[in-house]
Amino acid sequence: MNDRPSVVWFRQDLRIADNPALHRAASSGRRLICVYIHEDDDPAVEGMPSPRKPGGAARWWLHHALAALDQDLRAIGGHLLYLKGPAAVELDRLIDRTGADCVLVNRVYDPEGAARDRMLTERLAARGVRLLSHNALLLHEPWTVRTRTGGPYQVFTPFWRAARALGQVPAPLPAPAQIDMAGTAPAGVPLAAFGLAPVIDWAGGIARDWTPGSADGRRRLGDFLDRHLPDYKSDRDHPGADITSRLSPHLRFGEIGPRTIWHAVHHRIEAEGLSGPARASAQGFLGELGWREFSYHLLHHFPHLPTRNLKHQFDAFPWRDDPAGLAAWQRGLTGYPIVDAGMRQLWQTGWMHNRVRMVTASFLVKHLMIYWATGEAWFWDTLVDADPASNTASWQWVAGTGADAAPYFRIFNPVLQGERFDADGRYVRRFVPELARLPDRFLHKPWTAPASVLTAAGVTLGTTYPHPIVDHAHARDRALAAFAGLRATT
Ligand code: FAD
Repeated sequence: MNDRPSVVWFRQDLRIADNPALHRAASSGRRLICVYIHEDDDPAVEGMPSPRKPGGAARWWLHHALAALDQDLRAIGGHLLYLKGPAAVELDRLIDRTGADCVLVNRVYDPEGAARDRMLTERLAARGVRLLSHNALLLHEPWTVRTRTGGPYQVFTPFWRAARALGQVPAPLPAPAQIDMAGTAPAGVPLAAFGLAPVIDWAGGIARDWTPGSADGRRRLGDFLDRHLPDYKSDRDHPGADITSRLSPHLRFGEIGPRTIWHAVHHRIEAEGLSGPARASAQGFLGELGWREFSYHLLHHFPHLPTRNLKHQFDAFPWRDDPAGLAAWQRGLTGYPIVDAGMRQLWQTGWMHNRVRMVTASFLVKHLMIYWATGEAWFWDTLVDADPASNTASWQWVAGTGADAAPYFRIFNPVLQGERFDADGRYVRRFVPELARLPDRFLHKPWTAPASVLTAAGVTLGTTYPHPIVDHAHARDRALAAFAGLRATT
């Protein structure tokens, strides 16, 4: 038997169960080196692309996720080696030191990460080392879902239909019972050397809501299936009800895989004989995983998705430069309670409910007419689930510049959105406590409340809570006029 060790290089797959690279390496009977390479500020090897660096909230998550993965590996006889520097250089050094002849990875699909893997495959092959890659991140890889003419989909419904027609999703792989670590591996650096955890502890609110790691991902899945799956479809749009799975950061870092979720949901459908609305609800939840797949499909086929409008006619759109408006949006001080609640939830907890992500993003690109990439960058820095595919695809969707997008002329009214989806005000009262004592009928439009009502609720507009930074009707007319001008010129 070959006694040279194998390297298992973890990236967006921070788990030991349903991890095809780890599973294959462990099944080979070889000794292993399990490694995570942090590239941060080091200059990349010439010509080798470097994936987008995680933002602040995601760095916090990553720190704890790596510690959790190390614990999980230790429970089966291994540990995680931390290396710091350009991946190509660190892999070379590791191979020199250990004599490894094989590197196993799970594929990434961001354009830079995928290009880097292609280059690394050649670079390693030149020294007789194989890079073996697998799918852990998706139900179906982007190139396997094809239109009749063999091209990519740009509309969700036929994409998802075609994806579902591909047949059974493979069952998740078990975690290896035991792995055998190579004794020749270097000591590496301590996790703290990555500098991922904040120096000043601003993450208290995030830590109260979240526990990174596979164990909590599995717990959240079980809890969601037990308590919320049958009501998902009817309640998922109500941020105050808070019944969605909150699996997004666990999926983002690969602490739980989509195959595990897929099979767990199907098991419930069958084991509990779900029918009627409950079954439709479960299918609706799986459809959201479909949106995640669609985002990766788009990112793979349109690698400029993070930086350029998919609909090129928007390149000529007169986006506004509005630093004061942007700052008010970021800080949750726009004067529109549902927008402010969302932006504050994001800042305080590193996550925002999907309905409110749509409303806040729409407010930025339509009411303030600020370019979507500015909002995308803020979400990238503040979301614990900031995802290379879902974040950019969703922003382009909201902005009307993307695939299968909400048309630009459909402009959310933030008051009506609040009244419809947070009718009892539970969500706004939690995140905008200075409005908590306003009666429901004024909560989403405090500027319409009589002075006596404001006084009784302890609200002084312009002092304790801002006036709206822009009038809805004016903003709507301005955005529609800009859009009409665009259509006239393109
Ligand atoms: P659930 O409703 O429980 O859904 C289960 C899973 O399906 C989610 O964890 C997620 O992986 C996936 N999913 C659900 N909705 C979507 C969607 N619309 N698009 C893609 N995948 C989806 N999601 C991210 O994971 N990362 C992001 O960076 C991100 N940025 C977004 C930015 C904007 C402007 C908008 C409108 C949406 C964004 N989303 C993003 C999608 C969605 O808001 C989140 O996935 C969802 O809110 C996560 O909560 P959950 O896990 O409780 O979702």
